[in-house]
Amino acid sequence: MTGYPFSAVVGHDDLKLALLLNAVSPAIGGVLVRGEKGTAKSTVVRSLAALLPEVAVVAGCRFSCDPAAPDPSCPDGPHESGLSPRTRPARLAELPVGASEDRVAGSLDLERALTEGVKAFEPGLLAAAHRGVLYVDEVNLLHDHLVDLLLDAAAMGVAHVEREGVSVRHAARFLLVGTMNPEEGELRPQLLDRFGLAVEVRASRDPAERAEVVRRRLAFDAGPAGFAAAYADGERDLALRIVAARDRLPGVALPDAALRGITAVCAAFDVEGMRADLVMARTAVALAAWEGRDEVTSDDVRAAARLALPHRRRRDPFDDPHDDRGHGLDEERLEQALRETGDTPDDAPDDGPDDGPDDEGPGGGSASGGDAGEGGGSGGAAGSPPVQPGAPYRTRLLAPEAAGRGGPAGRRGRTTGESGRTVGARVPAGRLRLLDLPATLAAAAPHQRGRGRTGSGLVLRRDDLREAVREGRESNLVLFCVDASGSMAARARMRAVKGAVLSLLLDAYQRRDKVGLVTFRGEDATVALPPTSSVELASGRLARLATGGRTPLAAGLHRAERVLAAERLRDPRRRALLVVVTDGRHTFGPDPADVARRLAGVASVVVDCEHGPVRLGLAGRLAAALGGTAIRLEELAADHLAAVVRDVRRVA
Ligand SMILES: [Zn+2]
Repeated sequence: MTGYPFSAVVGHDDLKLALLLNAVSPAIGGVLVRGEKGTAKSTVVRSLAALLPEVAVVAGCRFSCDPAAPDPSCPDGPHESGLSPRTRPARLAELPVGASEDRVAGSLDLERALTEGVKAFEPGLLAAAHRGVLYVDEVNLLHDHLVDLLLDAAAMGVAHVEREGVSVRHAARFLLVGTMNPEEGELRPQLLDRFGLAVEVRASRDPAERAEVVRRRLAFDAGPAGFAAAYADGERDLALRIVAARDRLPGVALPDAALRGITAVCAAFDVEGMRADLVMARTAVALAAWEGRDEVTSDDVRAAARLALPHRRRRDPFDDPHDDRGHGLDEERLEQALRETGDTPDDAPDDGPDDGPDDEGPGGGSASGGDAGEGGGSGGAAGSPPVQPGAPYRTRLLAPEAAGRGGPAGRRGRTTGESGRTVGARVPAGRLRLLDLPATLAAAAPHQRGRGRTGSGLVLRRDDLREAVREGRESNLVLFCVDASGSMAARARMRAVKGAVLSLLLDAYQRRDKVGLVTFRGEDATVALPPTSSVELASGRLARLATGGRTPLAAGLHRAERVLAAERLRDPRRRALLVVVTDGRHTFGPDPADVARRLAGVASVVVDCEHGPVRLGLAGRLAAALGGTAIRLEELAADHLAAVVRDVRRVA
């Protein structure tokens, strides 16, 4: 199948540059691509693999060993030296959001390991991606556990699968690229930081450029092969340039002045740890190599800062994703930091590279223009001043009374994939995953004489094997969907809600529950707090919430529906509770009845905020449509909600 050529992509200069620099120097640590839907970010990522040099592999090795230096721990090894190598194109392995851990890390056949003494290992995506690209679309929707696993492998260059003491490891060095739409939920900040570079992608606002995008897409769809042929030269040039830059890379010098610039910039932007400095240095060096130079210049440092720092700034990581779009680094601060290093480094002798094909070179052009009055919908500008969160109070909300509170739900097991405590043993139905050793021994023991055991080892048969039965931990998601319209009443409402959110998080902390907040006001709904377990992040984010305007109730419910759907993908075992805080009125947008009906499968509580002498009882009707319960606002600030929620649970 012919893919869309990389060199045919219009615009997206930052993204292309970030990918190419990683292709030159995989040590940079991958790229996170953030952007709204429909910005062709997947197309650009997928087109990268075609530019990468072919790799020489040991014939027959499923782990893509390099014949020159085969992996000593290769499960298909050991490989004899001097075997017939063959070359194949570099791969792009794509990780689907719903992938199981076995699919990602590979799976070990414990049965054969125990009964036949063979390490039978089925390679996963980490093996497929070795020496190529691993692409995760919607990386923010991936289960946290899988993201950890990916980033660990990416950082160490090794995949490690362990089951009950039987372990397999193999090399897994790949360029990790994740794409995400921040509106569907944020990536945990500590994961954000582990991607080397991050770029924001947005559709061009330039009509001529948009027209060119459409023209090329239509031409490609009409005849992919012909289209690809037209760009074959561009593709070949880029591929050659990658090879040349890789060769040049080890010889590129990083002068002291440039290094001081890097550290000054990192210090000025108050980034955590040293990772940013290292990534910036590697990026600047790769850029010099890419541009055909042997020394890093101040421009390389600037470009590296723009790619390596935006996701590491120690600002509020939970800033509204809407405010986040397209804004890169504070350029003035960048320049100031560079100036302050004293020796404002070289304004490079401007002879530049003329050996490379630099007209399509995606070098540092500033594609992202200012975006002053953009999409000024849901900002905080016109609303009432921010209100402080109400003081948290204790709730017992959602304390699951069912079993499964066993053990501190702390560190995840490396690749066992199950959590919770062992509650029994059984004959495995499918593949054995979690061995229950005592039960297995007990099953095998009576037959040892009959099986003619003579030595010291136990004679195990397949039907002796027992697997542990574990009970998953209880974890919940409480999503508030709150009317932030109006003025005085809205502020009281927000105070109550903020108090409830923080209390829930304080209480939920040990159980790793998540709490999120959707607000609706004006013409739209916003994810004011993407589902999180972090008290710090929530209180930062809740410190300033805008209120005022009209009441688009349906938009609020719709946004809540999307957040719940995304969270369901991310962690299907998490139970969701929707808490709608409203008086039931809607003064803008469609009637909420339809979306309320769609949400009827979710456990819900409607907190009725109606007040005044004449009451319409609309919140009660909404609760009925949702199939939930209604309580009064006063009850939100009390343990009462906990009882209601438990009742809801019991019924559900
Ligand atoms: Zn091998």
